[in-house]
Amino acid sequence: MSTRDAVLAWDKAHVWHPYTQMQDYLEQHTPLVVSSARGSRLQDASGQQYLDANASWWCSVLGHQHPRLVSALKHQVDTLCHVALAGIAHEPSAALAAELCAVAPAGLSKVFYSDDGSTSVEVALKLALQYWAQNGRPERRRFLALEGAFHGDTLAAASVSGIEVFRRPFGSVLIDCLRVPPGQAGYERAFSALDRLLSEHRDELAAVIVEPVVQAAAGMRIYPPEFLRALRAATQRHDVFLICDEVFTGYGRTGPFWACNHADVAPDLLCTAKGFTGGMLPMAATLASERIFSGFLGQAERAFFYGHTFCGNPLGAALAREVLRVFQDERVLQLARGKAERIAAAFQGFSALPEVVETRSLGMLGALDLAGGTSYLEPRGRRVYAEALKRGAYLRPLGNTVYITPSLNIPDQDLDELLGIVEQSVRAAVA
Ligand code: PMP
Repeated sequence: MSTRDAVLAWDKAHVWHPYTQMQDYLEQHTPLVVSSARGSRLQDASGQQYLDANASWWCSVLGHQHPRLVSALKHQVDTLCHVALAGIAHEPSAALAAELCAVAPAGLSKVFYSDDGSTSVEVALKLALQYWAQNGRPERRRFLALEGAFHGDTLAAASVSGIEVFRRPFGSVLIDCLRVPPGQAGYERAFSALDRLLSEHRDELAAVIVEPVVQAAAGMRIYPPEFLRALRAATQRHDVFLICDEVFTGYGRTGPFWACNHADVAPDLLCTAKGFTGGMLPMAATLASERIFSGFLGQAERAFFYGHTFCGNPLGAALAREVLRVFQDERVLQLARGKAERIAAAFQGFSALPEVVETRSLGMLGALDLAGGTSYLEPRGRRVYAEALKRGAYLRPLGNTVYITPSLNIPDQDLDELLGIVEQSVRAAVA
């Protein structure tokens, strides 16, 4: 049996894939068997290459196997792979925290480490709850979020997420979250509803949580930064915490390093993951203000009783430090501007394609909606996926939303090839 056949046999016999209807998968799907990756390309067992159109679920912001990241990881492997962070300090996590705060929106001066996007949100939610519980406002234990939001899969993160199909099976056990109706084509209304709910429920609310400027899993929905700025002002007026979930938008995806920068706002809590380690290891951070941090000082029971085994993992931290240096040394944000313009121009042109009803772009993100419903389960995007695979790209739509989020340093030639494949695949899928 070839390696590829062996992988497929083990996989189909034992692996339960994420966000996948396994019956369809087992009966109809032949997965890509990836054996290596470099830059913006994945390579399968037969040597065939595929452009990674979504940077492997949005995290490989500097491309696969970036030599400087690989070498930073190798260096750290030889020195210290892991040690608990409770009562211990080490250079990678300490220096990273300082470096992260230096590039963070103003006022975020404390870093709490965790494992992935979901846990970075979980940490933010628990910090907000515990802060109010022990600082004289225990009735503040609800959250406020936008419909269509996605903040992760753990129970608390799922509670503040608003994609109905993901939330439904767990509805009865989720924590209390007020939600504003769908933002699609109506963000102005959604944000004014958010403002109203905020003032009506201010005394019960621990925090408002948003994905700044782009609701990613909802279908790459982009909203004007002014709404975020107004929300920040309202949360300050009502003294409710603002959590910005930059898990997708951070590390330059939308242009500036943080999407918050579009609105020139600083939240009370900021969640980062994915691009944080260049997508090479699962590690995340929640940044907090001095005010929140000081609300946990004092007697023993005021401590934040939270901490995953791999909190502050030295391997992840060493990588995350090198990611920050590469952004600086390789002028990643500056060089991405020209690539963003190519994406914007191409997606504008895609609006003329058959069955395309809307296109949009922001920074290193381009998206188009195919005619049909807007649910995550809509099938048309899957035809685009199949057509793109035939043409050499791994392009995984969200329902009927076809999008690209390539690495920020994708070579222009690869980007042009990818944009060509998007066009051809959409044409072929709707023909
Ligand atoms: N927040 C946002 C905005 C996300 O897009 C995601 C994942 N797509 C998460 C949180 C959860 O991150 P993870 O999958 O790393 O747990």
